[in-house]
Amino acid sequence: MKRFETDAIVLSTCDHAESDRLVTFHSAEFGRLRGIAKGARRSKKRFANVFEPCSLVRLECREKNSYIWIEACKLVEPYLPMRTDIEKWAYAALFSEIVLEMVPEGEPHPAPFILHKETLDRLERDKDPEHVLLLALLRFQLLMGYMPELEECAICRRALKTARKWFWQPAQGKLVCTDHFSPDSGYIALDTGTLALINYMRKIPLEKTWRLRMRREMRAPLLTGLLDWFRYHTRKEIQSIKVLEQIFPSCGISSSIVGSGPARQRHYQIRC
Ligand SMILES: [Zn+2]
Repeated sequence: MKRFETDAIVLSTCDHAESDRLVTFHSAEFGRLRGIAKGARRSKKRFANVFEPCSLVRLECREKNSYIWIEACKLVEPYLPMRTDIEKWAYAALFSEIVLEMVPEGEPHPAPFILHKETLDRLERDKDPEHVLLLALLRFQLLMGYMPELEECAICRRALKTARKWFWQPAQGKLVCTDHFSPDSGYIALDTGTLALINYMRKIPLEKTWRLRMRREMRAPLLTGLLDWFRYHTRKEIQSIKVLEQIFPSCGISSSIVGSGPARQRHYQIRC
């Protein structure tokens, strides 16, 4: 029997057996981590308010018979102000859902955990949460090893700085120039400056990432592309998008179809 302690962010929770809870966390030491909180539904005192999604907690666990049993869970940061701002809360839920599906279980990977924690911290206090989400998703794609070098056309090798307009397929990681763009292949149109900023993100530490400023008109296509990347690799729809659509039924996430391409070319306009 092995005992361990770790900081973790609550990703999801569900009922298990008669009175237990099965809780999924994101941790630095174990990546995605699933643990059973025995009797959590019966005794409200032992695990009071600690399994709310997106809360940062300190776990004490033991591993027995290939199960993780949660012995104690202490609330470190509940992000209460963020929970009262429905827009920030929706972005936090969206980022956490992507982490839940993309981070491997049981593998130490500290960088995505640090990014997740910083994203929640930034969402709580930043006045531009949509931009925080966008930078976090770009950084996450980079950390997970899916972001290609965006330096030249994948077909003719034309260099980035020799043209102003480019087309990127985040799902497949392909960048092409205007000569090799085809309208029905899930490309998003970006300018050279935005691509240069994304390339620059590779060279800077996380704390400097938040200083990057993406042009406002580039945000919708970038977000659309990043969500397509997620769908392509997980083969899943993003449930948090439905929550965002409910929050902003008339003016928020209006999925405006760009051109006559497939559904994946929708641009999600999240801001009112
Ligand atoms: Zn080309």
